[in-house]
Amino acid sequence: MKIICIGRNYIDHAKELNNPVPEIPIFFVKPDTALLRTHEFYLPPFSSNIHYELELVVKIKKVGKCISKRFAAKYYDEISLGLDLTARDLQEECKKKGLPWEIAKGFDSSAPIGKWYPKEDLKTLDFYLLKNGVKVQEGNPSQMLFDLDHIIAYVSKFMTLKKGDLIFTGTPAGVGKMNAGDVFEAFLDTKKTLNLTVR
Ligand code: MG
Repeated sequence: MKIICIGRNYIDHAKELNNPVPEIPIFFVKPDTALLRTHEFYLPPFSSNIHYELELVVKIKKVGKCISKRFAAKYYDEISLGLDLTARDLQEECKKKGLPWEIAKGFDSSAPIGKWYPKEDLKTLDFYLLKNGVKVQEGNPSQMLFDLDHIIAYVSKFMTLKKGDLIFTGTPAGVGKMNAGDVFEAFLDTKKTLNLTVR
């Protein structure tokens, strides 16, 4: 399976990192070794600035290529929340040098993922993140520059989507640094979906 991540999909987040607002979706891929299913994340030695980015995640349920927007919703039926963990210091270096982002975005355990819900069980797709009990991020797909159908149609022009692939759909504003001892709790439609302690 692969993990596809959309970048700069919320205007407020693009602005907080001084990035231009994109005209077409930006995406990158994390390897399957990025998946983290436990509730503990160990800060890696190669970065001194790991950021959390809370994102709505969809799980692809069948193979598809060049999927049209109008059929895109048929390609996923489970939704969760994930953290697109980012070594912001390494990413800044990569951006300056025009290098790919893999070391900053694709490292081991850089994709903690929460509990899955059938999409029909969710009344809303409102989501938010608490850091040590304080709300630091909140969002809803209505704030996305490119909606879920658009993302699936666009990505599948380039890469065949397969059953079990995950799409991280971008983060709203409020990203920040993770410190040892921090506890993160993420909620989707008021349901506690993910919790993670930083070691
Ligand atoms: Mg992200």
